[in-house]
Amino acid sequence: MTILVINAGSSSLKYQLFDMTDSSVLAKGLCERIGLQGSKVKHQANKPTRIRDTEIDMPDHEAAIRVVLGLLTDAEYGVLKSMDEITAVGHRVVHGAESFTRSTLIDDKVLKAIDECSALAPLHNPPNLTGIKSCMAVMNVPQVAVFDTAFHQTMPEYAYLYPIPYDYYKRDKIRRYGFHGTSHRYVSERAAKLLNRPVEELRIITCHLGNGSSVAAIRNGCSVDTTMGFTPLDGLPMGTRSGSVDPAILEYLMDNEDMSIAEVLNVLNKKSGVLGLSGVSSDFRDLHKAADEGNPRAEVALKVFYYSVKKYVGSYAAALGGVDALIFTAGVGENNAAARAAIAGGLDYMGLDIDLDKNAAVKGDECDISAGGSRGRILVIPTNEELVIARDTEAIVKAL
Ligand code: ADP
Repeated sequence: MTILVINAGSSSLKYQLFDMTDSSVLAKGLCERIGLQGSKVKHQANKPTRIRDTEIDMPDHEAAIRVVLGLLTDAEYGVLKSMDEITAVGHRVVHGAESFTRSTLIDDKVLKAIDECSALAPLHNPPNLTGIKSCMAVMNVPQVAVFDTAFHQTMPEYAYLYPIPYDYYKRDKIRRYGFHGTSHRYVSERAAKLLNRPVEELRIITCHLGNGSSVAAIRNGCSVDTTMGFTPLDGLPMGTRSGSVDPAILEYLMDNEDMSIAEVLNVLNKKSGVLGLSGVSSDFRDLHKAADEGNPRAEVALKVFYYSVKKYVGSYAAALGGVDALIFTAGVGENNAAARAAIAGGLDYMGLDIDLDKNAAVKGDECDISAGGSRGRILVIPTNEELVIARDTEAIVKAL
């Protein structure tokens, strides 16, 4: 089965084409500046590698899908003879609210329900929906939606309710939803495989640390708590997002700095986190370089981030009643040994003992970085959200 995976943003569209016989990626790419001047596509075909990087007119997402299909079947850069070889399309959808607890075959009812979730994710769901509709317009194959929030729908009420009047939950749907669910699910399932134990027996804490970051507590293969909440602004400090702050700060800033609520939210989303604290960068590589050169604000920004992740690991260990596996994933989690050492160091009292040599030697592969005698395992597992989307799509299509 050949599955096309689509992740549509407001002006971008990422794609990967999977051969499900061996889960290999036949081709992948990124369309950027869709609907803007100078739109371009970067396409990579595999076996053998061929790259096409070019400006091409893409006035809307439907045009972008046509460009992608053209490249996938191109004589020089293609990997398919005809687009009829594509069995189905899997779409990343950010918000499924309480309507979607698992990946779903898309029909008119599902389209309507995704649209209804748009109020909760106004920046994400509308472009996701545009991506789906564009594919439906040019391809006559099953389309599947895979939601970032779905994995966290198993959280108990006491974990997802915010302590504000209950009516706001009922009327306005304000609750913790959590995001990065596809990634947390993938790495926790991989951990069970690597440890050769059923996921149903394990207490796992997953740290997805990238530009956006979240930690999740996973018991019996189900998410029971996570740091992102009603929106991806909650929880950990991130590249540019503040994470959780005292909500009273919002009004105080509005008064003291003469800002509107929109300006305050813009600061919390785009000018805070490690960028805001350091004044250097949102990128952890830049921060480490600056800290090594003696920049005290870069150093404190890193410390604030690591301290926050460590506190959540501790609180989720309490929530789970112990930890069998602590997992690091995403850009920082997979590549930044100093971050892992700072977060997982000193956790031996709860049975997690990191081996600093193994940690320093990680090279982008799955790796156990715990010391021989550690009761719980500490693992680095590169995430693969696209593969989860492809597999869910395959399973749904097979069952039709
Ligand atoms: P996103 O949330 O946008 O998907 P990523 O998961 O790609 O983000 O993570 C981006 C972060 O990962 C950046 O802060 C970057 O510094 C860090 N990162 C990525 N690659 C490396 C690397 N090879 N070494 C150290 N840090 C890295």
